[in-house]
Amino acid sequence: MRSASHLCRRAYKIGSNLIALVRSGRTRFSLRKEISTTTTASPPFNFSGDMDEHMKLASDSDQISGEIREPDVYIVTSGGLRIPANASVLASVSPVLENILDRPRKYRRSEKIIPILGVPCDAVLAFVRFLYSSRCTDDEMETYGIHLLALSHVFLVPQLKQRCTKGLAERLTNDNVVDVLQLARLCDAPDLYIKCMRLISDHFKTVEKTEGWMFLQDHDPHLELEIMQFMEESESRKKRSRRRREERCLYLQLSEAMDCLEHIYTEGCTSVGPCHLEPTTKKGPCGKFSTCHGLQMLIKHFATCKKRVNGGCSRCKRMWQLLRLHSSICDQTDSCRVPLCRQFKLKAQQVKKGEDARWKLLVRKVVSAKAMSSLSLPKRKREEEPRQTLDHRHGIRSFRL
Ligand SMILES: [Zn+2]
Ligand SMILES: [Zn+2]
Ligand SMILES: [Zn+2]
Repeated sequence: MRSASHLCRRAYKIGSNLIALVRSGRTRFSLRKEISTTTTASPPFNFSGDMDEHMKLASDSDQISGEIREPDVYIVTSGGLRIPANASVLASVSPVLENILDRPRKYRRSEKIIPILGVPCDAVLAFVRFLYSSRCTDDEMETYGIHLLALSHVFLVPQLKQRCTKGLAERLTNDNVVDVLQLARLCDAPDLYIKCMRLISDHFKTVEKTEGWMFLQDHDPHLELEIMQFMEESESRKKRSRRRREERCLYLQLSEAMDCLEHIYTEGCTSVGPCHLEPTTKKGPCGKFSTCHGLQMLIKHFATCKKRVNGGCSRCKRMWQLLRLHSSICDQTDSCRVPLCRQFKLKAQQVKKGEDARWKLLVRKVVSAKAMSSLSLPKRKREEEPRQTLDHRHGIRSFRL
């Protein structure tokens, strides 16, 4: 029985043939030149092709075209299979085949032969079937996906290339991803290339143990470097977006704290509220803001702390900053009940322009987070608004503990 590693090595053998095939097709001119020299001579193969396959192909193509046509060209594979075909059909689907067929032959009577070498016979059959029917079965994609991708690239058949890009992307595994990546890069298939890179990047610990990776390390250091760079970039992209998410989260929390501050100082909540209002009878936790309890504790601390901000108390400093932030975004002048709102506003007018750019940036971010959250949470806002307008009749700015 063949071992798994034997099969793998075999896969690489096929892979390197494919790479040679794609490289030979890179410059269309050299490909045409190379093939045109062989089209004139008698094919150097032992034509022991499978006649059943010939008949199957012929009947497939007949079904598609709806008429029986005499083959006027033969496609020859590495295994010696001779596949009959019609020049007009091949030329209409592939401009490369059209070029090959258009070249004058040395001997007028010699048969037109197009060798497609370096891939298994069945892959070439699947390729020719696609040229006739624009279809390819799941089984063919499963077994010959990479070969078909290479052939679609070499012979310029974009529909097949698209089909292979999609089919191979669906069948990517940790074991085949390195081979597919190599081919995607050679065949200029950017979507597939990116999908392979992402898979390698996400499962690198497993991929680096595969034979494909070890083979790549030995034979293609450029691609290895490319993968490393991609992984580094994707890691820093992830870090950047994580940082942005954390920032957004912070600004949203601050914006909610601002709403909560107004809520406590205008309508009162649980045990803290403006002194003109009776303490709420409902002693349960606040149902409006998750931060309400914490903020109430902070307010209580701020009112009773002996150290205060100047004494270096970090909790007081936090409360002080929240009050300052409120004042920076508050647009009510006289009716606002939040303590120190007016004083901070007056102080801000005295600060010279450009002196506090970082603070202004923070204010802008919180204001935009507030705007965003009010768009996404219209229900809460609508509930709050009528109560706030009622409370504005009272001009008391102190608060009760
Ligand atoms: Zn509350
Ligand atoms: Zn304190
Ligand atoms: Zn205010």
